[in-house]
Order: sequence, then structure tokens, then C-alpha cells
Amino acid sequence: MKHIDEQKIFDILADAQKVPAADVEAVLARGRALKGLTLKETAVLLSVSDPALLKKILETAAWVKNEIYGSRIVLFAPLYTSNFCMNGCLYCGFKADNKSVKRKALAPQEIAQEVAWLLGCGHKRILLVAGESRGSRRPVVEDYVEAIETVYRVRVGAHQIRRVNINCAPLSVEDFRKLKKAGIGTYQLFQETYHDATYRRLHPYGPKSDPDNRLDAIDRAFGAGIDDVGIGPLYGLYDYRFETLGLLEHIRHLEETFGVGPHTISVPRIEPAHGVDFLEAAPYRLSDEEFKKTVAILRLAVPYTGIILTTREAPSFRDELFAIGVSQVSAGSRTSPGGYTQDGADDGQFFPNDARNLDQVIGSLIEKGLCPSFCAACYRKERTGSTFMDLAKPGTIKGKCQMNALITLKEYLDDFASPVVKERGYRLIEQAKTLLDESSRRQLSAFFEDIQKGIRDVYV
Ligand code: SAM
Ligand code: SF4
Repeated sequence: MKHIDEQKIFDILADAQKVPAADVEAVLARGRALKGLTLKETAVLLSVSDPALLKKILETAAWVKNEIYGSRIVLFAPLYTSNFCMNGCLYCGFKADNKSVKRKALAPQEIAQEVAWLLGCGHKRILLVAGESRGSRRPVVEDYVEAIETVYRVRVGAHQIRRVNINCAPLSVEDFRKLKKAGIGTYQLFQETYHDATYRRLHPYGPKSDPDNRLDAIDRAFGAGIDDVGIGPLYGLYDYRFETLGLLEHIRHLEETFGVGPHTISVPRIEPAHGVDFLEAAPYRLSDEEFKKTVAILRLAVPYTGIILTTREAPSFRDELFAIGVSQVSAGSRTSPGGYTQDGADDGQFFPNDARNLDQVIGSLIEKGLCPSFCAACYRKERTGSTFMDLAKPGTIKGKCQMNALITLKEYLDDFASPVVKERGYRLIEQAKTLLDESSRRQLSAFFEDIQKGIRDVYV
């Protein structure tokens, strides 16, 4: 596979096995410097199994998480527009030869219905997700563009979706330009596995069977001017240590070529799916402990890249992962087209493990002292790509993020929250205010007065 030197990764992983405990401590000290980790340093941490050292990795990641992101967690909802697919990914419920799934592609008015429902819950950020090809005759990019435009058009009272991201099949540069023009935020594409032979075995037919075309898609997205990209392996397809180093090699390639790495990393972990028996013989499934260690190590290795977690993980486990590195999370998700509003739309892509609705997730975040955020300001203020990283690295962005988190939380509490969540949330805001400097406190009060008057969608 392009940009991935497998032998180099295997050698680094083998060498890391022989490293003494003192070296682990030295790598953790490097992690605290917030400059990221090299491949070798990351491999040293990945090889740790001693419980005392593991605890130190988690503690260091929690420190870094807090230093860079504070207590905020950004929330979003996936919106599945189509489960038609021409690929044969052995692990996915949408694979072309899975006869047990009813195929559906949402018409624009059905997408609008789903968006209205999500807006009614309080959502502001949507991730569009689709199989490859919907079975229509027109080019697939036109479906994506129509979906993006539809999402942005829907209004419920003073509310509208403020950021649409998309997770869809690779496109040409020309088609990526169309997505950019339609206003997408992040283009998300998971390489699934960075191990070439495994990739080829698990993707036996369809356009996705070419691993290099998939890896190149992120380059093409950059080439089309989309500078917020999201990448990640699907953990559980191959050895998690190899995948993590493969991911870092991919990031290195992007940094060298485009001067900036991905805006986000996703950490999906393989889940059971309708009509798919992949997990019955899946030797690389990682345990919760291994997964937690991996998220913590990613936090240290690429400290300024957001880490996204989905409802593939269970509630109590998600809470543990927030503390050590995750900065964005989906909530109240359904993984089938029409899943939010249509009866019987239960042919999801996989079975989510967190069935709580948005209000319950928000209530639980607040209870743990975390600050839910629906902020979409950076993208709208053109703080993307290297501009974002230039602000993030010296810590300039942190104050804005905290301010926008509190503003969007206040909007949510005023307009959507249940009485219990309202009470808890206002209390959290009061506590958070005490940590702001005088000028930020005054600025926040001015924003809150606007919200009180009914003005919505204010941000810095
Ligand atoms: N069809 C596009 C593609 O494959 O890139 C985009 C949509 S696909 C539904 C989004 C992601 O879902 C895939 O990239 C894969 O990582 C993930 N996925 C597929 N099957 C899964 C499963 N059984 N459990 C967890 N995640 C899965
Ligand atoms: Fe299709 Fe994507 Fe599922 Fe593969 S992962 S079968 S490409 S929807």
C-alpha cells in the first residue's frame, strides 16, 4: 500500500518489545511536551502491558486531553442517506451481497424530514453517511451534493444545521470540488486497514477493492481544496499496533505533502452487523483495555487532532474514553436510512451500543463535569486546515472553543433540554464562568443576553 512501509512498521514494533520501563517514562515525558510522538516512541507505548505503566499512559493522556481541549465534548449525529452499495466489505451490513438488508436511498424530502427531527432534538452538526452508489443512474456525487444542500436548507424555528460533514466513497478531484462548493465541513474516509494483504482479502470486489485508490482519495480531497479531512482504521480488522503506526505513517505523508494532517481521527471498532458473520472468526478484535490504551496513545501521538467516537461503544466505556482523549462524539444515533423518522427502518449498518437519546447523553456528560458543545464556528470563520492548526498549537483556539461550547450549551438548555438537564446544565455554566477571565466573562454575558432575547447562532 502506498506510503506505508510494512517492514519498517514490523521492525519498529519488534524493537519496541525490548525497551526497558525507564524508556516508557521518557516517552511519556515527551508526550507531556505536546509536540506529538515519533513512530518509535508510539511503538514503545503500544507494547506496554504492565498495569502500572498502563495507568501512567492513561493519566498522561488525560492530562494532555485537559490541557488542549479542556472539558468540552463536541456532539453530532450521523444521517444515513443510502444503504445501496456495490462493494463487498466482509464486515459491513451494507455489502452488496447481503440479502438480509432492505435497500433504501432517501429522497430529498425524506432527508429533510430526518434533519427536522434531529433539529428538534437540538442537534446542530450532521455527518452524512452513505454506501457506495445508490442504484440511481446519475453520478453519485450529485446525490451527495443534493443531500448537503437539503440539510443546510431545513429550518425548524430559529434552528438549522450549522455543519455538514460527510463519510462517503472516494471521489475524483473534480467531484470533491463539488462537495466543497456545496459547503461540506470535514470529508471523512477510513482506510479500514493499513495492512495490504488484509485489505485485499476483506474487500474482494467493487471499487473499494483497490487500497491505493482509497488512500489517494484523501490527497485528492486536499487537491480539491477540502482541508479538513478525517481518517482512521477500523480497529479489529488487523493488529491494532500495526494499524496505529500505519495511521501515523498516513498522517506523516499528509503533513509532508500538504503541510497539515487530518482534522480528526475516528476510532471505529468492529461491531456485529445484520447478515454478516465476520466477527465469528475475527482474530484481531481488541479488548476494551487495548482499545483504551490505543485511544490514550493517539492522544499523545497527535495531540492537536480531534478524536471521534461513535455509538459503536457502550455508555460507561464511552465515559472512560472521554477522559483520556476523545473530543467529539455522536449521540442518539440510528444507522439506517430513515432511521430517525420512518417505522421499520431498522436495517442499520451495525448495532449501536449506546441507545441513549441526545438529552440523556448531554445529562450524563454534564454530570461528569464535561461541557457538551455544538460549536461549528471554526469552519464558518474559515479556521480550517493549517489555519486551524496554527491557532491550535500555541493554544489560541482554546479560549474560543470554551466560549462557543458555553454559548451552544446555553442555547440547547434554553430550547431543548429536559428540566433535570436544564438545572444541571445551568449550574455547570455558572461554575465554568468562574474559571473565565474578566473580559471573557463580560463577553459571554453579552452573548447570553442576546440568546435571552431570542437571538440564536452567535459565536466567536
Ligand atoms: N461506504 C463508504 C465507505 O465505506 O467508505 C462510507 C460509509 S461506511 C458505512 C462508513 C464506515 O463504517 C466504514 O468506513 C467502516 O469503517 C465502518 N463500518 C463498516 N462496517 C462496520 C461494522 N460492522 N462495525 C463497525 N464499523 C463498520
Ligand atoms: Fe459499502 Fe462502505 Fe459498507 Fe463497504 S463499508 S459495504 S463500501 S457501505
